[in-house]
Amino acid sequence: MKDSNTCPKCQSRDIIVVSMRKTVSTIIPIAFTMAGCVNLARHVCGVCGFTEEWIHDKNDIDRLRANFAAKPTP
Ligand SMILES: [Zn+2]
Repeated sequence: MKDSNTCPKCQSRDIIVVSMRKTVSTIIPIAFTMAGCVNLARHVCGVCGFTEEWIHDKNDIDRLRANFAAKPTP
């Protein structure tokens, strides 16, 4: 959906990209400050309403991996 600009459910090309401000529901916290959060953007189909959330900054994916990669269980 993000790259194809096509809805996978109804094949519509009417995609709305909603870049959201950092709020509790649009971030993944990886530290105790807002600078330590990963921001999400929502892609919404303008026909059927199907929605996906994406991390646009590839550096943020590495930050998530560093914080949430499988850690040994005690
Ligand atoms: Zn759709």
